[in-house]
Amino acid sequence: MIDLKGKVAVVFGLANKRSIAWAIAQKLSEAGASLAICYQSERLQRDAEELAADLPDAKTFRCDVTLDTDIDTVFEQLKTTYGKLDILVHSIGFAPNIKNTVLQTAREDFRIAHDISAYSLIALARAAEPLMPEGGSILTLTYYGAEKVFPNYNIMGVAKAALEATVRYLAADLGTKKIRVNAISAGPIKTLAARGIGDFTKILNAVEERAPLHRNVDALEVGNAALFLTSDLASGITGEITFVDCGYNTTGL
Ligand code: NAD
Repeated sequence: MIDLKGKVAVVFGLANKRSIAWAIAQKLSEAGASLAICYQSERLQRDAEELAADLPDAKTFRCDVTLDTDIDTVFEQLKTTYGKLDILVHSIGFAPNIKNTVLQTAREDFRIAHDISAYSLIALARAAEPLMPEGGSILTLTYYGAEKVFPNYNIMGVAKAALEATVRYLAADLGTKKIRVNAISAGPIKTLAARGIGDFTKILNAVEERAPLHRNVDALEVGNAALFLTSDLASGITGEITFVDCGYNTTGL
């Protein structure tokens, strides 16, 4: 049984009850952590507050990760509210005009995809470091489209490749501070973000057909893996990309 009593976890990327961030928040909360749940904009505030109210010890905060001022403000709020952080979960991704092929991708769309989906991990890790003086654990979410070409994943695949490299470099930068940095590469899950990916059902069907477990992964299974990776049980693991995809990535044809 993993015990996170006395630990403070901040989870970025809650949009609704289907969000992977919500599954992770629930699992960290079940283990006893105090939860700070961050949503992007006022539009998502009500959903975030309603969901947070279901947890015994959770507060909500607003932060758009494209704005340094928002990041500064939220970490000031976290410092005032909790005094420290033990766990940071980055469950954020966005690519404008994702339907464009990589060849068609405009400079500005490339920039935004990388800013929101990869650079934001750097910005959040840098802001979290002073609040983790005794060490901590940072976790992000990636997808197999970083390694292999998936139809319609397009520039998001390129941004996820940058994110995965970022995980390794941040792990090296923060290792001496006892801060671990890892990623979960989740199998496809029907969420708001996934809705933007054309023919997503085809990807889900391919997993059912070819993955060793012959089914798709549930967000709560990603939550369980997140709980392990952010807990002291994973104290020797950093810079890693861990697949939680019913084994799909291990198969060939
Ligand atoms: P989701 O839509 O519920 O979550 C994406 C979140 O990113 C939303 O909460 C959105 O508000 C947030 N976000 C986007 N731009 C932001 C900004 N500027 N500032 C702050 N927040 C911003 O979808 P999800 O599937 O739960 O996605 C979470 C993460 O998991 C993403 O990184 C996604 O790429 C990754 N992932 C998803 C799947 C899947 O199939 N759903 C698979 C592997 C990895």
